Amino acid sequence: MHDRIDIAIIGAGAAGLAAGIFAAEAAAARVQLKIVLLDGAKSIGAKILVSGGGRCNVTHDTITPKDFTPSTPAVRNILAAFSAQAARDWFASMGVALKREETGKLFPVTDKARTVLHALTTRCRELDVAIRTNHRVTDVTAKDGFVVRHEQGELHAGRVIMATGGRSLPRTGSDGSGWEIVRRLGHRVTDCHPALVPLVLADSMFHAGLSGLSQETELTTLIDGKQVDRRTGSLLWTHFGVSGPVAMDASRFWTIAHAQGATVEVRCNFRPGVGFEEAERQLIAQMEARPKLSVGKTLAQQVPDRLAAALCVYCGIDPATPAGRLARESRRTLVHALTGLPLPILRDRGWNHAEVTAGGVPMGEINFRTMESRTVPGLHLIGEMLDCDGRIGGFNFQWAWATGHLGGRGAVAGLRGT
Ligand SMILES: Cc1cc2nc3c(=O)[nH]c(=O)nc-3n(C[C@H](O)[C@H](O)[C@H](O)COP(=O)(O)OP(=O)(O)OC[C@H]3O[C@@H](n4cnc5c(N)ncnc54)[C@H](O)[C@@H]3O)c2cc1C
Repeated sequence: MHDRIDIAIIGAGAAGLAAGIFAAEAAAARVQLKIVLLDGAKSIGAKILVSGGGRCNVTHDTITPKDFTPSTPAVRNILAAFSAQAARDWFASMGVALKREETGKLFPVTDKARTVLHALTTRCRELDVAIRTNHRVTDVTAKDGFVVRHEQGELHAGRVIMATGGRSLPRTGSDGSGWEIVRRLGHRVTDCHPALVPLVLADSMFHAGLSGLSQETELTTLIDGKQVDRRTGSLLWTHFGVSGPVAMDASRFWTIAHAQGATVEVRCNFRPGVGFEEAERQLIAQMEARPKLSVGKTLAQQVPDRLAAALCVYCGIDPATPAGRLARESRRTLVHALTGLPLPILRDRGWNHAEVTAGGVPMGEINFRTMESRTVPGLHLIGEMLDCDGRIGGFNFQWAWATGHLGGRGAVAGLRGT
């Protein structure tokens, strides 16, 4: 005889914990259900603990479907059913006050990710939601409910919620194994690529010399010559290439197109919102005003000095050249680099440095009101394992809470046959 439970949640990350809590709260109104979270890790919450630089960017004060890819009606409905305010209230109800930073990101006032994890696990305990660690699940089969096979044996569950995450930071336990399980159950899983990932540039580029410098930059991504993304934010130069929110946000377009063999180009405009002509006009005016000032110093009136010098060298111009002596062609080359520098991207930094996964189970295979599979009745899928990813800023956790909310409640409603 094996364990018989009502709801088995596979994966006790952000989405799984949220689902456990919402399921137990929904059930408590009528009857107590046996709800169990199974996780392969020795201790849970590794990803929550490292998130947001150890501070956990829980959500964002303004959430719109445009912050996610895809931003389909299903995604819009899921987000609408659990707003940023709902997330704030929910955390407040668990004793976690959040504070808003200038960028709109929300963090616990303690500035400690552990506060978030502690609140979630405490609430699970209060609601008798069992968390079983060292319970890596190897298979789920649909048979009079579900048989869940794990490394310690097996159990029988009325409903199963899959919350095994994607492939980012695999050492936290999210290694993509959940996708194999749902594939065997009949789901499709798209190709998956690292997203919110830093990008490695060719050694010939000047990034290493600027390591540590960050500045507002507009990044435009073109696939086979067609613009697919344009966004502005902080770009951070590093010893290997580029990072910072704008590069991380743009990375998904590069990783996917590159893997598909397309020609993909990412261009930097270091004067966001200012085009070539306007930037050239301004540079000419600055050069005419002080013709003896060096080109490097003149350009430094528009961008940080270190970048100004690097751009000059990149364009084959000695930064010490007096501005008045710069040839027209050189000036135009410089302005092209200033407003449309192509990044020589070699590769992304891989799963160990990616914050999220682009790809997963297509949203079309899920009922967005309950997160129940359209293929396998009684199976719910939530969190990062779905083919939807958010930009940097708390959006991916919001996705985990929002899908966990619907999935947990949906599973309870399904058990009751409502
Ligand atoms: C370094 C880093 C920083 C981040 N910072 C932020 C941030 O500040 N804000 C934000 O919004 N997002 C952030 N993210 C993204 C966010 O952490 C994830 O999108 C989110 O945690 C996904 O939640 P999930 O529950 O779907 O999956 P996960 O958190 O990946 O959880 C999946 C769980 O399933 C378990 N599991 C996997 N396979 C099995 C199996 N076969 N059997 C049993 N258990 C299994 C794993 O052990 C894991 O515990 C960050 C990510 C990283 C890597």
